[in-house]
Amino acid sequence: MHEFTPEVEALAQEILTYSLERLKTDPPLDGARSAEDLYREVGNTITKKGLGGKKSLEVFTEVLAKACISTDHPRNLAFIPSAPTEYSNLFDLVVGASSLYGGSWQEGSGAVFAENQALRWIADLANLPKSAGGVFVQGGTIGNLSALVVARKEARKKFPNITKWAIACSAEAHSSIKSAAEVMDVDLLLIETDENRKLTGTNAKAEITKYHKIANQRVFALVATAGTTNLGIIDELFSLGKVAQGENIWFHVDGAYGLAALCAPSVRDKFNGVELADSLIVDPHKWLFAPFDACALIYRNPELAKEAHTQHASYLETLHDDSWNPSDYAINLTRRTRGLPFWFSLSAHGTDAYTEAMEQTLTVAKDAAKLVASHPNLKLLRQPELSIVAFERVGWQKKDYDKWSEDLLGNQIGFIPPSSDQGKPILRFAIVNPWTKIKDIEIILETL
Ligand SMILES: *Cc1c(COP(=O)(O)O)cnc(C)c1O
Repeated sequence: MHEFTPEVEALAQEILTYSLERLKTDPPLDGARSAEDLYREVGNTITKKGLGGKKSLEVFTEVLAKACISTDHPRNLAFIPSAPTEYSNLFDLVVGASSLYGGSWQEGSGAVFAENQALRWIADLANLPKSAGGVFVQGGTIGNLSALVVARKEARKKFPNITKWAIACSAEAHSSIKSAAEVMDVDLLLIETDENRKLTGTNAKAEITKYHKIANQRVFALVATAGTTNLGIIDELFSLGKVAQGENIWFHVDGAYGLAALCAPSVRDKFNGVELADSLIVDPHKWLFAPFDACALIYRNPELAKEAHTQHASYLETLHDDSWNPSDYAINLTRRTRGLPFWFSLSAHGTDAYTEAMEQTLTVAKDAAKLVASHPNLKLLRQPELSIVAFERVGWQKKDYDKWSEDLLGNQIGFIPPSSDQGKPILRFAIVNPWTKIKDIEIILETL
């Protein structure tokens, strides 16, 4: 049945050789090129007769791949980079080769079973009840939106007369919360943080009470951030959860980056209160050593999500029995079993290895903060709560930061685009890669 001709066989070998080389050797940093520049080199790759596998692969490996920055380079500390384990990347090849359908139990029961065990590990770390469950979606943005849609549906049931809905969060919440509010056409109630820049129950309660004073308007979800993306600040989860409970509001914890550290005993108590969440997200593609793209979206009561997200169509009704269909728990129908590379690695290495790798990144972050604090030209912004180290270069303007960053990549030393905090340019190291050693930090600091 398969057209596995000698030509395909040869290509398979080439692809495997390339993939293994990529995994075995230190990744190059590389960098972006303009579309014009790329076109000059490769031309139009979509042709009537096709270039053939060998040629297309060559175009990719020789040109296109080199125009992509390696997110797993140990000195790529930009945004939130990634650091998939070898096992997870290798298993991604299996997922790709297996044509698995991850939307329904009927079609993908074995894969969905495995994904659910990986989700269970996270739910247990968060101390959620046994009934908790969810789905791996594409990313935190879709995870947050999917959870908030369920939250609003619940609120509409409880408060049928409300005409204006709002999501409450701090100004430090991730941009995807604002994006969700826009998609859902609801208000965003931004609540002041405290002197430590954390959202607190006290402030949330005051603002929410004020918002509820106006007839027909209500907050339907309180969003806490468990590790802000820019600085790694964790909101006061416990007091926020209690306020949400008291006000009959859905409590969502956005831990796309930070909740990964639930498996690290040294910081676990910073997440106390996460067990009160009605829903939470964490991206294994950020700090849980899995490849793109995977966000674990977990609900305390998945039945509510099923009510909100199950799609109905004549040809789909055959799926709607009591079995667990991942499509029913988020804004998605057809889905790749994107949780499997994470599951495989977790299953193979065991959870202790995750704890160890996590603690190691936290230690490097702590040591990096010390080096920054004692550096004559640098000013540490705050002690890292997790693994983001943010600082200023004394005396520099925005253009100096830009130039430094450009040179750092140009010289293939590292990738650290400038960020900003409260209107001022800053630099930040987002350390999620166990291959990032303190030596890497020293190499970067020498350029400052
Ligand atoms: C990264 C991030 C998101 C968005 O996740 P994507 O996977 O990029 O869509 C949401 N919230 C927080 C706190 C994040 O750090």
